[in-house]
Amino acid sequence: MIDAAARVRAVANFIGGQRQTASAAQSTPVYDPARGVVTACVPLATAADVQSVVASAEGAFKEWSRMPPLRRARILFKYRELLEAHAEEAARIITSEHGKTLSDARAELTRGIEVVEFACGIPHLLAGAFSENIGGGLDCWSMRQPLGVCAGITPFNFPAMVPLWMFPLAIACGNTFVLKPSERDPSVSVLLAELLIEAGAPPGVFNVVQGDRAAVDALLEDPRVVAISFVGSTPIARSIYARGAHYGKRVQALGGAKNHAVVLPDADIAATVEALLGAAYGSAGERCMAISVVVAVGEIADRLVENLSRGARRLRVGPGSAPNVDMGPLVTPQHRNRVLGYIERGVAEGATLVVDGRDAASEHGGFFLGGTLFDNVTPLMTVYRDEIFGPVLCVVRAADLDAAIDTVNGHPYANGVAIFTRDGGIARSFAQQIHVGMVGVNVAIPVPMAFHSFGGWKHSMFGDRAMYGEEGVQFYTRLKTVTARWPERDDVLAQFSMPTH
Ligand code: NAD
Repeated sequence: MIDAAARVRAVANFIGGQRQTASAAQSTPVYDPARGVVTACVPLATAADVQSVVASAEGAFKEWSRMPPLRRARILFKYRELLEAHAEEAARIITSEHGKTLSDARAELTRGIEVVEFACGIPHLLAGAFSENIGGGLDCWSMRQPLGVCAGITPFNFPAMVPLWMFPLAIACGNTFVLKPSERDPSVSVLLAELLIEAGAPPGVFNVVQGDRAAVDALLEDPRVVAISFVGSTPIARSIYARGAHYGKRVQALGGAKNHAVVLPDADIAATVEALLGAAYGSAGERCMAISVVVAVGEIADRLVENLSRGARRLRVGPGSAPNVDMGPLVTPQHRNRVLGYIERGVAEGATLVVDGRDAASEHGGFFLGGTLFDNVTPLMTVYRDEIFGPVLCVVRAADLDAAIDTVNGHPYANGVAIFTRDGGIARSFAQQIHVGMVGVNVAIPVPMAFHSFGGWKHSMFGDRAMYGEEGVQFYTRLKTVTARWPERDDVLAQFSMPTH
């Protein structure tokens, strides 16, 4: 079904400091997932459209990269204030296209704004090292300089936060940026770009191009784009990493996940169950840090499953904009069908379906699905191996902690993991032994703060620099080291062996 307004609203690009409505021949629909109707269309950029966006970013680079970091930081301070002032507007746009609850959309913005706050410290973050008097009349110092035009390709599940992981730090470092947001919920990216202009960023420093695979291909192939930040599913992350490297670009490509929570018999069961319900079903499970597997260790399993099932049944499912809702709809009808397919597969492969989300009726006509809980899942089942990215929680039973650790370490995804226990010594050794990038101890979703860095291991991240924090600064800059001689004497002679100063 198409909303009447959708015929007139095409999502804009943002190029050279202003909105531009693309005249692309092909477009794709944007839904309001809570109502199940098409509310807008996204014109899909062609290679020529992308080239003109990159030209805008390239044109702005020289002046922007020479601006003192302190002045760039002042623009970001102002940007932070504007983002706060427009947070409600941005959250409503996110909820209307993604479906998540308004409180979750506001929280997403808060986590994104924290990266802007980190980027405001850029004069300090760019301070280099200086070694005085390394030889007669010689000093040596290192500096970090911007790369040029950087591009970001982002997923649907955090349409504001993930772009904010990237471009504030990239531009703070002196780069210019082209964002290719998800075509499923693209509108908030244009608001982010407009507010940056209002904060004082020159036109061309931050640009948005709407599109799909063709736009991504054009960004990869354009020699003026020197670095790519990607967040999305693993097959695409892997391919972006390989193709970006082929074209000689710097690439960080974050992929999918299957995050485990290991629950030990001594865990505080009430607090653990509440934490797991939020982490599994919040945002309808469409989070890369969602808990999708609970590894129940020893005798706690029966009690845990009973408490989780009670919680999953009482989840309040409804439109994200309504009050007192725990979980909104899935993002598109295709994605809902995909998740339904996994539930059928889990049943067919012999997992015990304790709570069936397909029972959750919806009077709203949107892409709703209730919380689903499987017990007796084994590592060979598809519902265990694959990332489902929906409100489906699997319980795997393990005899002891060693077996639980082997299970987690045997999974190809390694984004986040959590352990729930009252034993500090066990938690400490778990954190050391586990082969996962982000670890929570009695914390279900251990997303690092902006002054640390975000990144998984194994199939959850390709590249060697994580997002934001110090790693982000290193990704968006390159190192230059200067060795300078200002001799006190003027009798310096040519040296033909390797200089030892
Ligand atoms: P996706 O991989 O389908 O799309 C991500 C981006 O890639 C979008 O901008 C899309 O337009 C583009 N794209 C899609 N197909 C492409 C192709 N064939 N070639 C080039 N570009 C292509 O991911 P999604 O469904 O939007 O997002 C959900 C996925 O993102 C999940 O797997 C989730 O775990 C992952 N994710 C990971 C993190 C993390 O930090 N590791 C964070 C958020 C989301």
